[in-house]
Amino acid sequence: MATEQIFVNACVVTMNDALPSAQAFAVRGDRFAAVGSNQELQGWADRESRVVDLGGRTVVPGFIESHSHPSLYALTLLQADCRTPPCRTVVEVKERVKAMAGTLGVGRWVRGWGYDDTLIAERRHLNRADLDDAAPANPVLVSHVSGHLAYANSLALAIAGIGSGTPQPAGGEIQRDERGVPTGLLKEHAAQELVLEHIPPYSTPELKGVLGRTMSVYHQAGITSSHDAAVGYFREGRQVFQAYGELEEEGRLELRIYLNVVEELYRDLQDRGTDTRFGSGRLRLGCVKLFQDGSIQALTAALEEPYQNAPGRRGDLVHPQDALDELVERYHSRGIQVAIHANGDRAIESTLQALERAQRLHPRDDARHLIIHCQLASRDQIRRMKRLGVIPSFFVNHVYYWGDRHVALFLGPERAARIDPLGAAVQEELIFTLHSDLPVTPVDPLFSMHCAVNRRTRGGMVLGPEERISPVEALRAYTVHGAYCSFEENAKGSIEVGKAADFVVVSENPLRVPPERIREIRVLRTVLGGRTVYEACHED
Ligand SMILES: [Zn+2]
Repeated sequence: MATEQIFVNACVVTMNDALPSAQAFAVRGDRFAAVGSNQELQGWADRESRVVDLGGRTVVPGFIESHSHPSLYALTLLQADCRTPPCRTVVEVKERVKAMAGTLGVGRWVRGWGYDDTLIAERRHLNRADLDDAAPANPVLVSHVSGHLAYANSLALAIAGIGSGTPQPAGGEIQRDERGVPTGLLKEHAAQELVLEHIPPYSTPELKGVLGRTMSVYHQAGITSSHDAAVGYFREGRQVFQAYGELEEEGRLELRIYLNVVEELYRDLQDRGTDTRFGSGRLRLGCVKLFQDGSIQALTAALEEPYQNAPGRRGDLVHPQDALDELVERYHSRGIQVAIHANGDRAIESTLQALERAQRLHPRDDARHLIIHCQLASRDQIRRMKRLGVIPSFFVNHVYYWGDRHVALFLGPERAARIDPLGAAVQEELIFTLHSDLPVTPVDPLFSMHCAVNRRTRGGMVLGPEERISPVEALRAYTVHGAYCSFEENAKGSIEVGKAADFVVVSENPLRVPPERIREIRVLRTVLGGRTVYEACHED
């Protein structure tokens, strides 16, 4: 018989509209079996049940991170950390690359991640000479914090055969100096791929090891489900599949994973006859991932009006309109969900046109296509999403991490104030989710909710106060709406009889603390399918 646990004396925020709050609940096996008052649950306990007194603590549903990259983050654990912090100067970045080259040995590929040209003291991109200096005898590739740019050294460029005469790849750019020599900066995936295809992929055992460490990071943040949002973006797509599959078989997959697979890999899987409809409570093949632009801070998001700090530029669409139309139609017409990365208003416009066209040609009731990041959506675009049943996932952490720079550098005050227009989305009654995009920003749902509710930048400014939302709307985005966007609203996302027993015990109630203190709330315990996967050492 399934073991029964009864949790009593709690302040339960169920996120179930039929019973919004409760004091106690029972878990049988991996599901909620009863939810109610302490008194009601007393009747449930018998000699076999384990009763846990939560001492008045708040319980919320397990958080659902609807756009992050656990497998990409896992890979960064095998790479040099070039973020700011910890690195303050280019010299410190070079030291980390040099140290990794020393550990790996001559000739081995050195990977780095997280470089940020707008935070490093020198305020510039890396170039091949920096990386040659750091590791002359190793090919080196360092990725930018956005993931949309990367820097290669001379050896890496030579191995990839990239020189003055190399044609520009479609959808990407090899940056060249005034003499036509590549500087080492590679823009967008198409250019990075020229180098990546020469790097031996990490092995499945390596990946399984670092995925284990990654899952702990998620548990500490109260997360019980996450999308793995671009499987196949780097070359380890197949190993990622394999690693997750093996972890699940071994009973060691301690996170519910919804795979978003980049289109090229998805098509390849279908061509090989792989069952692309597999799914269990822990591992599901979700949607096809497409990209229609880059990122604002890399100046590669496609905007209607030029960047403030680069007046001639407004970013490029990845696909011409007819190509995106065709791709979206291909999957929409087969009943498959698509997730399209679109940051800038011009990319969102192009994405909506493709989705509207597909829906017109092949009407579907409940396609739930996703627009990822969706940062510069206009009111009109939000209304069209609502009409189409499209779910945006907003990258609200941008307000904190890049908000000041969006005002001063990239967008200017007017456009910056309306990034991540959550207030407008709530007014239009649009279902949306929020995300961290780990490894782009740290994974921490309570912090993302804090950003959504307060919209305070790192510098302390409130950016677009009318776009702030209430704590309950923010929590909904991380729970019930997170479940909805992967068609799992009947299986998880709220504390409700029959649903997966995924929940988090937190130090304070996010709906009751003063809004400016939401980020101080700590995760004390994370429970996945009735099993505690994280417990803070000191509860008080
Ligand atoms: Zn992402």
